[in-house]
Amino acid sequence: MTTMIELKGVTKRYGSVAVVDNVSMSMEKGTITVIVGTSGSGKSTLMRMINRLVPISAGQILLRGQDVTTAPATELRRGIGYAIQGHGLFPHRTVAQNIATVPQLLGWDKARIDRRVEELLNLFHLDPGTFAAKYPSQLSGGQQQRVGVARALAAEPEVLLMDEPFGALDPVIRGKAQDDLLAIQKQFGTTIVLVTHDMDEAFHLGDKIAVMSEGKLLQCSEPGKILTEPADPFVQQLTGTSDRALKLMSLLPLKGSMQPLRPGLGYSLSQTLNLRDALAEMIWQGADEAIVEDDSKVPVGSISMRHLIELGRKA
Ligand code: ADP
Ligand code: MG
Repeated sequence: MTTMIELKGVTKRYGSVAVVDNVSMSMEKGTITVIVGTSGSGKSTLMRMINRLVPISAGQILLRGQDVTTAPATELRRGIGYAIQGHGLFPHRTVAQNIATVPQLLGWDKARIDRRVEELLNLFHLDPGTFAAKYPSQLSGGQQQRVGVARALAAEPEVLLMDEPFGALDPVIRGKAQDDLLAIQKQFGTTIVLVTHDMDEAFHLGDKIAVMSEGKLLQCSEPGKILTEPADPFVQQLTGTSDRALKLMSLLPLKGSMQPLRPGLGYSLSQTLNLRDALAEMIWQGADEAIVEDDSKVPVGSISMRHLIELGRKA
């Protein structure tokens, strides 16, 4: 694993108050780190120090081993995309012009910019013929959000900082936006740091979850470890409420948990489902037992409701 971002004792003081207090952590290339914590705990400030929108008071941030305080501004703009709550689109610029913002700053030629805008619109399921010339106010909230993320990705940054990017979206569109983001991250290997209030979002997206409280980093671990070995009572309180078992089940794939194939079952599930979604499907379908299929829809095992609940108890 290659370290993409390294924070060493990073501190931000306003007057005598440390709103980010001696935070050390590293983010590996091609992973998603999700930052959670109560309002005012320093999440946005921490993120904005990475792209130098907020100057650091003490400590150091390294991007690919290079100190961000001495990196040239164009290099930071090119290397780090930034998508914020709401969407932050320029209202008097078209969708295409919004997405082209950073490539224009970087002096790309027009043909290259046009190609990139079209590519990104397609990637986010926005037909270029329909959407390129529209203004943000002519789009739905979900569409605006996608344009905001597309704009952040325009110059093919290695790092994408996202501050509550899906906060304004309703749950269904939010789920779609999360899946879009995972697909894009897989395709480009982008290193993502994302702030959210939504614990389900954190567990769905995070390779690592970082928990902040009052400027301090309490824990930064894999989601399973956050639930099973919380480093602090606050971590447990924030992340593991009554649905702790279901959260753990959502981290386990059906693939590793199935029982031998039994003939005569009328209902099938994909092995790519996680245990929580499998349970939800079976409750919805009223099935006590189901066939598990591989990616080519070949039956490879079975799963019973009773077994799923056992796994949830052990999780
Ligand atoms: P979060 O994103 O976790 O909600 P922030 O990073 O926005 O928290 O803010 C952390 C703390 O720093 C808050 O108490 C906030 O009021 C304070 N703060 C943020 N920006 C400034 C500023 N420019 N001047 C003074 N205090 C600030
Ligand atoms: Mg914030």
